[in-house]
Amino acid sequence: MNHSPAEHANGGKIAAGGVLYVVATPIGNLADMVPRATETLQQVDIIAAEDTRHSKRLLEHFHISTPLLAYHDHNEQQSLPGILSRLGQGQKVALISDAGTPLVSDPGYRLVRAAREAGFAVVPIPGPSALIAALSVAGLPSDRFTFEGFLHAKSGQRRKQLENLQRESRTLIFYEAPHRILTCLRDLADVFGADREVVLARELTKTFETVLAGSAMEVADRVESDPNQQKGEIVLLVRGAESPETTEVDPEAQRVMAILQRDLSLKQAASLAAEITGAKKNALYKWAVDNSH
Ligand code: SAM
Repeated sequence: MNHSPAEHANGGKIAAGGVLYVVATPIGNLADMVPRATETLQQVDIIAAEDTRHSKRLLEHFHISTPLLAYHDHNEQQSLPGILSRLGQGQKVALISDAGTPLVSDPGYRLVRAAREAGFAVVPIPGPSALIAALSVAGLPSDRFTFEGFLHAKSGQRRKQLENLQRESRTLIFYEAPHRILTCLRDLADVFGADREVVLARELTKTFETVLAGSAMEVADRVESDPNQQKGEIVLLVRGAESPETTEVDPEAQRVMAILQRDLSLKQAASLAAEITGAKKNALYKWAVDNSH
C-alpha cells in the first residue's frame, strides 16, 4: 500500500502505526470492486465485517484469505476495544459492510470516531454507494441534496417525517425496503402532493436494474400494477420543493419604487424600478401593494 501511516496526518497527530481502512465494496456487481479495495483487503491483518458469512463470499471471489471478525450494531461494545487494541499494536484493519460504503446506513461510525480520537490514521478506500449511483442517473438536481437514510417503518411516523421534509428544497434521497415501497410512495404522494417528481432506482448494477421516473402518483401506480417493482433493493429520490418566490425587496429598490410610483402606475413603476435596480418586478409590485395606505 502506498500510504505509510507515518505520512498520514490525522487531525494534527501522526498515527503510531495502526491504520483503519474504510473500504467500499460493490452494491451488486462484483466487477465494481475497485483495485485498491482488493489490494487493501489482501494486505491488512484483519477485516472487520458486518456479516462475516456474507463477506466470506466476496473475499473468496477475489482470492482474499485475510481473517474476518464480526463488527455490527449488536456487538459493537464488545468488538470495539479489541479492534482498537489491534490498531494500538500497529496492525492494519479494514472495515467493510455487506455492500457499498461502510457508515452509509451501515455500521462503523463509532469505530471510525474512536480510531480517530485515539490518533490512528483512518483511510478511505472509496467506491460504490447506492445513493450516489442513484443520484448520478436520476436526472434530478444534484448540486444540493440531502440523504435521509431509511424512513420510519410505521406509516404514522413516516408521514410525520415526510411532513417535516415537505418544504425541503434540496433533492431528497431515501433508502426503502421493497415491501414498504408502495405504501411509502402513497404516503409521499399524499404529503408532498401527487405531482411531486420522484425517481425510483432499483437493483442498481444488477440484472434487473430499473430506474422509474414520474410524478409520485404515476410511479406509485406503476409500482402497484407491477409486483416486480416491489422487489430487490431500492433508492427513492424526490425533487425538492420549489423555493417560494422571493418577495424581499432591498432598501435601494424600495426607494426607487417609491419615487417612480408618485408619477406612474404601479405596473409601470415596478417595471422601471426592476430595470433600474435588478430587483424582481413581481416582488416590487407586491411590495408597493403591501405598503400602499
Ligand atoms: N452502505 C450501503 C451504500 O453505500 O449504499 C447501503 C447499505 S443499506 C443497509 C442497504 C440499502 O441500500 C438497501 O436497502 C437499498 O435501499 C440501498 N441499496 C443497496 N444496494 C442497492 C442497489 N444495488 N440498488 C438500489 N439500492 C441499493
